[in-house]
Amino acid sequence: MRMRRNRRLGIALVAATALILSACGSDDGDDGGEATETEPAAETEESMAPTDESMAPSEGGTSGGGEAVAAIQESGTLRVGIKYDQPLFGVNTPSGVVGFDAEIATAIAESLGVEPEFQEAVSANREPFLQEDQVDLVAATYTINEERDEVVDFAGPYYVAGQDIMVATGNPEGIEGIESLNTADLTTCTVEGSTSLENLNEMAPDADVLTFDTYSKCADAMRQGRAAAVTTDNVILIGLIDEAPDDFELIDNPFTEEPYGIGVQEGSDLRCYVNGVLQTMYDDGSWAEAYEATVGSAGVSTPEPPELNNEGC
Ligand code: GLU
Repeated sequence: MRMRRNRRLGIALVAATALILSACGSDDGDDGGEATETEPAAETEESMAPTDESMAPSEGGTSGGGEAVAAIQESGTLRVGIKYDQPLFGVNTPSGVVGFDAEIATAIAESLGVEPEFQEAVSANREPFLQEDQVDLVAATYTINEERDEVVDFAGPYYVAGQDIMVATGNPEGIEGIESLNTADLTTCTVEGSTSLENLNEMAPDADVLTFDTYSKCADAMRQGRAAAVTTDNVILIGLIDEAPDDFELIDNPFTEEPYGIGVQEGSDLRCYVNGVLQTMYDDGSWAEAYEATVGSAGVSTPEPPELNNEGC
């Protein structure tokens, strides 16, 4: 076990985080789209980190000082919190953890010159994992939002999903969208500690809600007839459907935006470093390659990668 305490960084970075928070928070769909203070994308361009080979945070992350990055390099391992049961993003297999999040985390570890060490994260323990220094980063279909940004920091976004609904094949209940779930007559399953649950509670307050700690348990509940629908990010549902195409189908009517970030400890210089790795992956095609090999295998076409938030780097 590595001892790393008192890694708090300067006020400047904390202040920068507040700015990031306002920029990122407005993208989040869980407050019903009422936030309107989106920072113009053009404004961030001048503060972008260099995008060439050099990912060293010394240039981009001037206020970071590289303390966290140096500690990881010294330890030889990057401790990663990741989902273990989410097809396409993070699945624990006998040969290791596979999926898009695993690819991204592995590329970060490679860039640092260390080995990734995966630990299972579920939706509800992602912030505590970081706050309690159990992991260096969380790569786990982790939506950037204001609430979370108060206690952890986010690199990215590296992907944007949207919340959707999965139903039994043939859609026997005729579910069309989030409005259809707003009734005590249908049980909808989702996961504790997720934006999916928050959004469901806000947008369908009369829904009958069943929760577990993982989405695979929701899929099981549907098979057992205990739930009529599962709601979470479309790409997570597509992964579940890809594994059981005879059982489930996607409504394909997304109703939020879920920008995925790599969670790091509050104030950590690892944030800007990870943005450097992501930018390099965007530029050299390895982000697209990783996407095609994982999410793309379920027939999802490769989007343009989202612009990184480099404020404070
Ligand atoms: N992206 C959403 C979240 O971070 C839902 C998926 C998940 O629970 O991992 O809460």
